[in-house]
Amino acid sequence: MFFQKKNEMLTCKKEKHQWVNFELKAYPHKQKKAEEFIENLMPEIDEFLQTVSVLKDENITLSFVDDRADDEISDYTGEFFGRMVPQDSGASYFYKTRANNSRVIVNLYNTASIVHEFGHILDVHSDGDDKSIRWSERDDFKPILEEYRARLNEYQAPEWYKKYCSEPTEVFARLFQEYHKDLFSENDLTEMWSYEVGEIVAAELYKDKYQEITAYFDIHLPEVYAQSERYRIVEKLIEDMKRMEMEEALIK
Ligand SMILES: [Zn+2]
Repeated sequence: MFFQKKNEMLTCKKEKHQWVNFELKAYPHKQKKAEEFIENLMPEIDEFLQTVSVLKDENITLSFVDDRADDEISDYTGEFFGRMVPQDSGASYFYKTRANNSRVIVNLYNTASIVHEFGHILDVHSDGDDKSIRWSERDDFKPILEEYRARLNEYQAPEWYKKYCSEPTEVFARLFQEYHKDLFSENDLTEMWSYEVGEIVAAELYKDKYQEITAYFDIHLPEVYAQSERYRIVEKLIEDMKRMEMEEALIK
């Protein structure tokens, strides 16, 4: 007989979903609820994955973790990330950038962070001559970055938080969230669970410098959307073929 540790999270779903390796981790007694929750979100996740399908050649694992504060302290975090993840934070991380084995880990109930984390991955997926420089670290992002920093400084917030929010890639990811929200309007992936100073400044800046910021993303992401369009067409063809095959099989 094998007894599981009381508060051990288990992987209850692991599948190749669209082009990401998708996994769900939850405590045994919450597994069913977690599965249902994620099932309901799938259409929105699928839609989002199609928009960022330029990343589909990278090996991305998208993990949903049911890790809410009302749970007992999980020993999952330390073991998995090798770094502390605050409880109830809607933690999401990605690492191993520059393709291959990126991992996006989001709190199951803070799905808006999917968009944020993929924003980071897009940031390092920069094109051009020098691929070692993120989009957010290039000259054409500087005016936006400087404006964000200036506005952030007008707010009261702990220094460490301001420092973190001022990182070019953080500014990029937060503005990408705004841009994405603009494209898809309110849904579960755009509705943010925690809306702090960093997000407030991003939203204000996006509104005030709308032309400039949308133009920036429009210029840098056309490849993303072009490929996602192609991807949709291919998906549709495969779907049609499968249907025709099934219909044929039924006729026989
Ligand atoms: Zn971030």
